[in-house]
Amino acid sequence: MSILMILFVLILWVAPIWAAASLGKSRGRLGLGLLLGIVLGWIGVLLIAVLGQTPEAQRAALLKEGFPCPFCQEPVRNGATVCPHCQRDLPPTPPFHA
Ligand SMILES: [Zn+2]
Repeated sequence: MSILMILFVLILWVAPIWAAASLGKSRGRLGLGLLLGIVLGWIGVLLIAVLGQTPEAQRAALLKEGFPCPFCQEPVRNGATVCPHCQRDLPPTPPFHA
């Protein structure tokens, strides 16, 4: 097997699996990303990119830069004084951080 053949296999088969898996992982869909990368190659990468984040992954990403509202438990950005979800006034400093 020549070097070119190895590169060819890497680019066509291994790279899309890796790309789909890492894209899927950042969107909370690691299993689906792996599956699409293996079965569909670069088309699977496109699909997982189009699918976007799961609601759980979105919520986790929001909680990283904020805290859960003490009233409705939805993620709120740090420094917010009114919850964008339930419209209630928030304490100036949240008693807990997620
Ligand atoms: Zn709220």
